[in-house]
Amino acid sequence: MKAFTYERATTPAEAAAAIARKPGAKFIAGGTNLLDLMKLEIETPTHLVDVNRVGLDQIEETAQGGLRVGALVRNTDLAAHPRVRRDYGVLTRALVAGASGQLRNKATTGGNLLQRTRCPYFYDTAKPCNKRKPGSGCAAIGGFNRGLAVIGTSDTCIAQHPSDMAVAMRVLDAGVETVKGDGTTRTIPIADFHTLPGNTPNIESALEAGEMITAVTLPPPVAGAHVYQKVRDRSSYAFALVSVAAIVPANGPARVALGGVAPKPWRVEALEQGDDAALTRGLLADARPTTQNAFKVPLAERTLSHILAEARG
Ligand code: SF4
Repeated sequence: MKAFTYERATTPAEAAAAIARKPGAKFIAGGTNLLDLMKLEIETPTHLVDVNRVGLDQIEETAQGGLRVGALVRNTDLAAHPRVRRDYGVLTRALVAGASGQLRNKATTGGNLLQRTRCPYFYDTAKPCNKRKPGSGCAAIGGFNRGLAVIGTSDTCIAQHPSDMAVAMRVLDAGVETVKGDGTTRTIPIADFHTLPGNTPNIESALEAGEMITAVTLPPPVAGAHVYQKVRDRSSYAFALVSVAAIVPANGPARVALGGVAPKPWRVEALEQGDDAALTRGLLADARPTTQNAFKVPLAERTLSHILAEARG
């Protein structure tokens, strides 16, 4: 691991300003992904700003009837919150499907959104990877890519986004609140938060340099059956091959987002105006799978079909 300096911030504005002062600095919260990346020297921050004590660990009701989840709320606490369990069941189910109990106790809401891909070549510094080292190539294209993305990819990168939580946030239409180094704040719709690889797979979100996530807002609850189905190689502590987050009302169109298949949680709202069959057929209609991961397309369709049939009774 490369040497780095460290400081602890006490407010979000102080943390953002500290990052702005030091080129090469990074925020650290739970550290469940960043520390691994630092040990492998994939991430080499010169300075860490610890944001664990900036006071963003509360879940509050919003005036609109939704929830505002502080960026430092741990995954375990978010999953167990009574309002989340009652009104946002898809989120609780997605959270408890992720990682392990120990990791969920440390991992934060903000950090979960920013976790890096689990493409094996991203972690293998002997191999070319455009995401790790822009312009170096992509060992996964033509390599071992069974778990990688089938849609939203580019000729430079076919990595998938690994989060379960973010897929549920996408189906809930969450907003990501941030603060920049100059103190200005904004809310980014989750639909626009994660970016597709294009020619710059090293850029993964709409965050600007030094911009810090302060909270995630959930709109008022959406009625219907809240389902999160994760298909994976073993029944715990494994990333999704395919996951489906769905909110299915008794009558009317379902909302659906897919995980494990794209560089970001994958949702196509226009398809939600049609019937269940059109939604199921259409979601991955533009997929460009490899020979190794083509199975994900029918797997996603069948998983979604099963969820819709069960939820509709
Ligand atoms: Fe790197 Fe993306 Fe290629 Fe994986 S798929 S090796 S993350 S460029």
